[in-house]
Formats: sequence, C-alpha cells, structure tokens
Amino acid sequence: MPELPEVETIVRDLSPLVSGRTIARVRTTGKPPVFDRSTLSPRLLAGKTIERVWRAGKFLVFDLGADLHLTVHLRMTGNLLFARAARAAERTRAVVEFTDGARLVFADVRKFGRMRLLRGDPVQVLGLGVDPLVLDDARLRELVRAKTTRVKTFLLDQRRLAGVGNIYACEALYQAGIRPGARVGKLTRAQRGRLLRSLQRVLRKAIRHRGSSVDDYRDAEGKEGEFQKQLLVYGRAGLPCRRCGTPIRRVVLAQRGTFYCPVCQR
Ligand SMILES: [Zn+2]
Repeated sequence: MPELPEVETIVRDLSPLVSGRTIARVRTTGKPPVFDRSTLSPRLLAGKTIERVWRAGKFLVFDLGADLHLTVHLRMTGNLLFARAARAAERTRAVVEFTDGARLVFADVRKFGRMRLLRGDPVQVLGLGVDPLVLDDARLRELVRAKTTRVKTFLLDQRRLAGVGNIYACEALYQAGIRPGARVGKLTRAQRGRLLRSLQRVLRKAIRHRGSSVDDYRDAEGKEGEFQKQLLVYGRAGLPCRRCGTPIRRVVLAQRGTFYCPVCQR
C-alpha cells in the first residue's frame, strides 16, 4: 500500500504536470463507484482549474479554488498516471480529462481506492492526525501520554499520525531498537526521541529514493520506486538481522505482518 513517501513522490511528480490545467470532465467506470458516498457531485469538477497538488497523510489533494478539493486515496493497488494523449490504462476507474487533451488516469486492480470531492480543510474533514515530517518531541509526548496502545498500532493510527503504514512503521521501530509490541505510553524519553528521529529519517530517505514498490506502487509515469532494495527489516522473516545476525521474526500486530529483530529491539 502506498504510504507517505510514495504519495509524496506522486505529488511532486504530478504537481508541475497538472497545476494550472483546467478539468473538462471526469469519467468514471465500474463498481464499486470510485467516488465515495460522502463526496460532492463529481460534475462540479467541470471547468475547475487545479491550483495546487499536495499530500495530506496518505491522501493526494488537488486544490480547485473556492475551498473545493479533490482527494484521492490509492489504498492497496491504486495508481495515478498522467498521460498527454495516451489511451486509458487497464483497470481504469476514473479519467480526469483536461481541456487541452491531457488526462489523469486512476487505475486500480483491486478497486479499494477512493476519490472524494469536498469543501473545507481536507485534514479536518478526513480526520487526519499530525504529519510525521513536522512532528516534534513535545507533540509526540502529548500524543502518547498515558496511552496503553502498542507502539506499532499507534504509528498506524491515521487519526494521530497521518501517513505512516506498515512498511515504514516496521523500519522505524527497527532503526529505533524498539519492540513493535511495546506500550507506547511506557516508552522512555530516550526511546521516544529515537523513534521520532528514526521515523523521520526513514520517511525522508524513502522520499529521496522515490518510495518502495513492494506490491503495486508505481509513480505518476508508471515506474517503480527504489527504496524496497534498502528495507532493513520489512519482508525479511527468517533472514538474518543485518546488525546481529539473529533471524528476523514475523508476528501479526494490528492485523498486519510485523517484522522485528528479537535481540536488537527491546
Ligand atoms: Zn538484530
């Protein structure tokens, strides 16, 4: 599933391509409908110009002026592909057609991805927490105070931190030397500091490498990311820890496969 670095990569690629372009219409196809139930009518998109593209957690946000925003969540297998003239990709669920003939194609094999047209601040409307790239220690301390949640579960909770998913939660915890099952409210000040630094470091590094293509993630030109080659613990069950050689363990936590080193992470 695309997480913060993958969505950030798509945003940075798409921004110069679609900013300033005017939408002629949006065609959608297939079931379930790609526009979710809470959306305003997609017909409102006609004639709107994209002013800015940005990321809110794992959502792409297209600002359309007058406080109107188109949000896109790629979920498991969604891809957003920009095409100057190309035909629609396979598994197309929506095509944003611009007045100059260019298109933005939303393709999605498993069809969990969603689009939504909304008014107001997308961060508030979508109920998203703090962006981990702007998180600081004081804010993190506030967020975890007296919480008995496991640290991995906390990292995945989009209402508290928006953008972290399974891959980068595993990587950050490995680099911080913290067990995924530790209670987040019981972390020491030193552990919390290491967690914050590791999280930001791994997210920034993954952005520099254009994200991880573990499953179906592709950038706006259909190319894979490069960070999957640098993952230290995710997907390495049974393989030796790169630090101490102990086999990496896989457990299920927050319904997701969770990878950690039983020696390096306490
Ligand atoms: Zn180890």
